[in-house]
Amino acid sequence: MQPVATDPAAQSSADQTSSSQLLGTLAGIDPQKLAQLAQKIDLPALLNAASGMSAAQLGQLSGMLAGQGGGAAKKRELPAPDGDFYSVMATLSDRQRDIASRVRHFMETEVAPIMNEYWQRDEFPQQLIPKMRELNLMREIWNDDGSRTPDASVTEGIIIMEMCRIDVSTAVFFGVHAGLALASVALGGDEAQRAELMPKMLDLDLVGAFGLTEPEGGSQVSRGMHTTARREGDTWVLNGEKKWIGNSTFADVTVIWARDVADDQVKGFLLRKGTPGFNVEKIQGKIALRIVENGHITLENCRVQEADRLQNANSFRTTADVLRLTRAGVAWQGVGCAMGAYELALKYAQTRRQFGKKIGEFQLIQSHLVHMLGNLTAMQTMCLRLSGMEDAGQMRDEHAALAKVFTAARCRETVALARETFGGNGILLEYGVAKHFCDTEAIYSYEGTNEINTLVVGRAVSGLSAFV
Ligand SMILES: Cc1cc2nc3c(=O)[nH]c(=O)nc-3n(C[C@H](O)[C@H](O)[C@H](O)COP(=O)(O)OP(=O)(O)OC[C@H]3O[C@@H](n4cnc5c(N)ncnc54)[C@H](O)[C@@H]3O)c2cc1C
Repeated sequence: MQPVATDPAAQSSADQTSSSQLLGTLAGIDPQKLAQLAQKIDLPALLNAASGMSAAQLGQLSGMLAGQGGGAAKKRELPAPDGDFYSVMATLSDRQRDIASRVRHFMETEVAPIMNEYWQRDEFPQQLIPKMRELNLMREIWNDDGSRTPDASVTEGIIIMEMCRIDVSTAVFFGVHAGLALASVALGGDEAQRAELMPKMLDLDLVGAFGLTEPEGGSQVSRGMHTTARREGDTWVLNGEKKWIGNSTFADVTVIWARDVADDQVKGFLLRKGTPGFNVEKIQGKIALRIVENGHITLENCRVQEADRLQNANSFRTTADVLRLTRAGVAWQGVGCAMGAYELALKYAQTRRQFGKKIGEFQLIQSHLVHMLGNLTAMQTMCLRLSGMEDAGQMRDEHAALAKVFTAARCRETVALARETFGGNGILLEYGVAKHFCDTEAIYSYEGTNEINTLVVGRAVSGLSAFV
């Protein structure tokens, strides 16, 4: 090989450039980091040695020191928060992935910018309804004739997860309408009722609500319903109260479950907006789901035509069928809520600095993040399997009940860790995590409390009933 001839003048200028590069790099290092570095290496000896180094060697050393976090250092990109650690989305169909990404876009662009304002106002943003209509989500789950699409449960779960990642209240509006109310019409209505209501509800031209719970009848509502229905010719006269009824302050049609005084069976009635004797008062002062409008309904000699009695709902069995159909969706709410909280906490841990470090560099904060991610991943994979079983017609009550119990509890733990990661900022609405923290309390208690769903699973696995 021929030796490479070097020009001494050019060599000296290169050495000078590299020396000043080295000094610049050292000057750019954070003084705290420089002090730490000085404890590990003998800096004066290093500088002395540097005087005898070639341009190439000085350049290399400068590059190494830049890695110590100096001003000249190239910023290392941190991974973007992603609550899909086991690539659950990759197991879905292209259609489902497309739905998920449309819902994510809607939630990030239409809901996120206004949700805190509406949370503070205790109000549902009506302007979201036409925008949700454009998304056409209901028809991804239901057909006009009241049947379900083949992958309805998984699709609905993914929609709910994406909604709850940003705002659980929006998912509750959707779940009450597309789950509880639509399912009541689909399962309890006859052909004429389905033909009238399904297309309008699927297009969100009519908004639905579902009235089962009573002030004195929550968990035990199936055993002692106080709201009564008395038949007078072609008319039914309803009396009683319903509590907690989501969407009912503005719904076009509210399904009311009432006990027929003649045969003691629970029947379903379609209460149209504005029916005399049907009064709704918005429940005030909630600490969770403040964007959902929950109504306290009073029925005073409220008259409903026989044509508006759900013709195929002649006992509580139909009500229970409706609840079975929606329970998996509530389990998915916990997944989405935990996902949103985890991603917010991770982002915060990557940016918030204390003691000269990002808080995500502290081992205890990493432990919180990993705990949250473990919960979230277990919840996601459990719900995906549950919905797969539901779509295959294999899901039983106890399967859905176990997922509801597990996800609500893990979600509660996850949002608490996420809130904790934010320190004091965790209780401020503007940081996002506080809303997830509060909303989880509602998820924990509705659609069967933790205790009731536990007893459902306990009865199934032991063969022994704790219910009296
Ligand atoms: C935000 C929100 C939205 C809602 N939306 C609707 C809606 O749209 N439509 C609707 O009809 N309802 C709705 N609900 C009502 C909801 O389904 C009830 O709150 C739920 O069923 C629990 O009833 P409860 O609140 O009366 O509690 P209770 O039944 O009074 O229970 C109180 C406590 O006692 C425990 N408990 C009760 N019985 C037993 C037992 N046998 N063994 C052990 N523990 C027991 C419970 O687990 C709970 O911890 C909503 C509720 C909330 C909070």
